[in-house]
Amino acid sequence: MQLDILRSPSAFLRHLIGSTEYDSVLQESEAWWKQEGQAISDAVDRARTPWIRMFDSAGKRVDEILYPPDYWRMLQQGYHAGVLWRAFQDRSLLPSFLLIYLTSFYDSGLSCPYTVSLSTALPLAKYGDKALKERFLPQLLRQDGTNWQGATWMTEIKGGSDLGSNVETVAVPDGNTWRLTGDKYFSSNAGAELAVVAARPKGAPGGVRGLALFLLPRRRQSGELNYTIRRLKDKIATRSVPTGEVELRDSEAYLLGTPDEGIYLILEVLNVSRIANSIGSVALAQRAIADALNFAECRIAFGRRIIEHPLLRRQFDERINDLRNALALAWGAGKLLNEVWEESRPYSERYHLFRLMAHLAKYWTAEFAVQTAKWCMEVHGGLGVLEEFRVERWLREAMILAIWEGTAHRQLLDALEVIERKRAHQALFEYVGRPAQLKETVDAIDAHLQLSAEQRERDWEPLGASLAQLTAGVLSEKLGR
Ligand SMILES: Cc1cc2nc3c(=O)[nH]c(=O)nc-3n(C[C@H](O)[C@H](O)[C@H](O)COP(=O)(O)OP(=O)(O)OC[C@H]3O[C@@H](n4cnc5c(N)ncnc54)[C@H](O)[C@@H]3O)c2cc1C
Repeated sequence: MQLDILRSPSAFLRHLIGSTEYDSVLQESEAWWKQEGQAISDAVDRARTPWIRMFDSAGKRVDEILYPPDYWRMLQQGYHAGVLWRAFQDRSLLPSFLLIYLTSFYDSGLSCPYTVSLSTALPLAKYGDKALKERFLPQLLRQDGTNWQGATWMTEIKGGSDLGSNVETVAVPDGNTWRLTGDKYFSSNAGAELAVVAARPKGAPGGVRGLALFLLPRRRQSGELNYTIRRLKDKIATRSVPTGEVELRDSEAYLLGTPDEGIYLILEVLNVSRIANSIGSVALAQRAIADALNFAECRIAFGRRIIEHPLLRRQFDERINDLRNALALAWGAGKLLNEVWEESRPYSERYHLFRLMAHLAKYWTAEFAVQTAKWCMEVHGGLGVLEEFRVERWLREAMILAIWEGTAHRQLLDALEVIERKRAHQALFEYVGRPAQLKETVDAIDAHLQLSAEQRERDWEPLGASLAQLTAGVLSEKLGR
């Protein structure tokens, strides 16, 4: 592979997954990012947390998020390019994932609004009743960049990994709507016109089985605010998406699906976001490697450009190979989702295979992004830690990619669960063509399943990591074929 390809997200995608009908859209977006978007993104990151104007001058609660106008232009660019509407027009998630890749190369935080809007539109389209869809979907799918945005709010103050124990938001039926009361502690894309929210219908059983998924508009039917934003979080990165604490007080909401299938809907939402996160993680890693390459081609030490030193050159070669593998894993998981996203319960075997791939991809690509961003900083030496050179930002952004949409622990354990319940490792083995290099790990997983539940969990990590890494390698060999 020509190293130059690393400097362009659209060229890298084209090189590895081949040409698509979206090539020109990606190239136009890339040109926009180079000419305008990157500078806006830098300024938004440097400006730190946007402010929130809670009241207007007449004392009315407004909760307006105050980014500079350029921010909204940057945000609209991706919507206009089709990160949301193309999925519905083309009945394919691939254009969304391609545009999320492109965006994440320049600003991985900005991929969050796109991702959560997609993760709102999909369950609305699948599980909303006719009236709900007619009322809200066209607003999300406007093509001129002025569309409504979505958000996915599950996590509460006591913790996000164990939603079954920690979601305390209660839903009470009220005619054909519901009233939700509770607090969401990490609410990205705060200010969104619509959100999908996990809540427990009053009287429902405890644990995850009692949770349901609701659609929550920003405004009540009366036009009043339907949720309020207590404050915005000061985060180390992803500053191009506002993350807030959101208060629901008798907030109007609409049930998606039925209460007893809520947890499956919540997991569907999360799994879409996990794929987007995987794709964004690879893009961020590509960006970090490209920046490291630009620097290493110019910096002189011991009489030659540092890229020419054998140790560093070998590290570059390995990193680029791993990048290719990471893309193969993320893209492979994305393609599987594209096959199964319209499914509802009872899910097919293919769907369970997708779930395993989603957990492996989310886990592996985020870890890869963190390690690559750290390495990129080291390649820059001391300059790598200075804010003015942008390099340290990639590490800050990557750290968040590894946590939101479920930490590495969660992904590993959820991968183990789908293996235990559905033997998804065997389906994966078949899916990738029973390659010799995966056989030993698949056999070891079979042996592992004989251990006690405690031991299975405790000793799973090396096997899970090996399954992710080897699958990425096998899929990489098939890329472009
Ligand atoms: C910037 C940002 C934006 C976010 N935006 C949103 C959003 O829009 N919507 C939303 O719903 N959430 C959002 N989140 C929340 C995010 O999904 C959670 O932070 C994440 O799921 C982890 O939950 P937690 O932080 O409560 O950690 P906890 O669940 O309290 O976990 C703490 C630690 O314990 C580990 N752990 C937990 N259970 C186990 C176990 N069984 N075995 C081993 N280790 C375990 C975890 O992996 C973690 O390392 C956001 C988070 C961040 C940082």
